[in-house]
This record gives sequence, structure tokens and C-alpha cells, in this order.
Amino acid sequence: VPELSADSRYGYRYPIAEKYFGAQARDTLEEMANAGLLERHFYSKELSCPKCGSINVSMRFHCPKCDSTNIKRKKIIEHVVCGFVAPEEEFKEGKCPKCGRELKRMGVDYVEQGVQFQCQDCKDVFQTPVQKLYDPKDNESFLPLDAKEVSLFSYKVTTKLEEELQKALFQKDYISKKLTELGFAPTFPGTVKGKSGIVHEFFMTATAHIGFVKTKIVIDIMGNGRVSEEDILKLYARAVDSGAYGVLVVAVPSISPGARRVADTYGIAITEAPDFQAVGEALVKRFAELVETPEERMFKMFGT
Ligand SMILES: [Zn+2]
Ligand SMILES: [Zn+2]
Ligand SMILES: [Zn+2]
Repeated sequence: VPELSADSRYGYRYPIAEKYFGAQARDTLEEMANAGLLERHFYSKELSCPKCGSINVSMRFHCPKCDSTNIKRKKIIEHVVCGFVAPEEEFKEGKCPKCGRELKRMGVDYVEQGVQFQCQDCKDVFQTPVQKLYDPKDNESFLPLDAKEVSLFSYKVTTKLEEELQKALFQKDYISKKLTELGFAPTFPGTVKGKSGIVHEFFMTATAHIGFVKTKIVIDIMGNGRVSEEDILKLYARAVDSGAYGVLVVAVPSISPGARRVADTYGIAITEAPDFQAVGEALVKRFAELVETPEERMFKMFGT
């Protein structure tokens, strides 16, 4: 659900979604809605700055002649008895300046005739001030008609996303079960405090005690199209700092030949999964190959 907030980019934010998606939460929610994972519900219609789209705008009255906002609102009084009309402030001490008589009962001997504005800069007197919206961020004023209309939505998880989440949870269960059978203790997510003091987060870690040696394998899923050489180098640095014994990467859907060469050089095991649904199976299969063929030293030593 959106919440108005002056210091955010669009003038509103999604506090709950930000916990998961960070500062770009609004854009992520839109992407997910476009992908059918979230349902949009109309929340409100707002006017926004035509320049930056922020709805954090306020209404201001301007002088029609000189555009100043330094204008004063005045109540207009008519003394019915003598017909004198003037701003309230001219009826000093409750007396009519024209005939000198006292104003007694509103609606009987005197009436309010509405309001009038006076510009304190150019002294112009007028009935209707120009209404403009003001965006403090851009320091920009614009007419309401020039404002952009923005529809705010709240978002709800669809059944499709629920199913996807179920599948993901099921995959975790599946991976846990299989890796446990292979003698490893799985942890999701794999959070490791590195030698540098930096805390690294991996998709998971799998730990086993073999003799006196604690063997920790870090496993990551890389899903942004083709995995690059830089992605592998960064992962390598994090794994070394984490004191990992081995690294396994599931690339969705594929890894570039260059990145594969880098991975081979550093002893990082790679497997590819065509999509996220296939991750669990691919991961378990490769992991089993690696631990069941120790003579091939599929996992090269890290930090030992
Ligand atoms: Zn703006
Ligand atoms: Zn003026
Ligand atoms: Zn009078």
C-alpha cells in the first residue's frame, strides 16, 4: 500500500515492499504486476510535477498580475444602512467609516460580501487568485491543468505468484533433503561472516564434517541472463573471504564461454538450468557428482 513521503523520489513509497526490494520497490512492483505476479488495485489519483513525476506538491495562490504569492485575503463588508462596501479592516472599532454608525447585527444592518485578495507586492486587488501547484524538489510552480495525473495502486500477491513461491519452497525442501542424504547440512540463505569482517550472503551453504576438517561449500544461483566473467570473479572473492572449501554456481539459463573459463581457472563448479524451476534438480545433480567423485577433486581447495 502506498504511503505519502516527501523525501522519496515520486513523493510516495511502498514501505513493506521496500523491505524486500529496496529503494526501487515501486518499479519492481510494476514489473511484477506486468508479469502477472501481482494484482493492481486502484488506490488514488494524484497530480504530479510534469518534470519529475513527484506527487509531493502543494497548492499556492498567486497574484494574477505579478505572480507573487505574497497575497492577503480580505473579508468584504457591506454596510446595508448606507450602502458602503469595503474590506473588514476599514471598519475600525466596529464603526462604518462613511456614515459613522456602529455595525450591529450581521445579516441585518451589515452583510459579508465574500472575499477579495490583495497582492502585497503590486497592490493589485482581485477576486480570484491564480492557483498553482508547487514542487519543492524542483522549485517549480505549474498550473493544475499542466500537472501529470498519476494513479497510485496497491498491490496484492496473485495465485500465480503463490504457486511460484510454493514451487520455490518445494525446491528448497528438495535440495535440503538430497544434500542431507549426501551428508551435508544445508543452510538457507547461506550467510557467512568473512575473514575481512564483511558478511556475505549466498543462496545457500552446505557444510559437512569430514574427519577434523569442516567442509563448507557455498552455492549461488545467478539468474540475470548470461553470467559474466565479472560475476564469477566477484563470487570468487566472496567465497575466498568466506573460507569456502568449494563453490558451486547454478547459472540460469546459461554462462558465457569467457565466464566458464574464469570459473574453471578458479575451480568453481558450474551447472546450467534452463529456468528457475529446474534449479533444484540441476543443483542436486551437480553437487552429487562433485562429492561422489572426490578422486577427481572436482572441488578445488580454497583458503587452505
Ligand atoms: Zn518535479
Ligand atoms: Zn501582484
Ligand atoms: Zn455606513
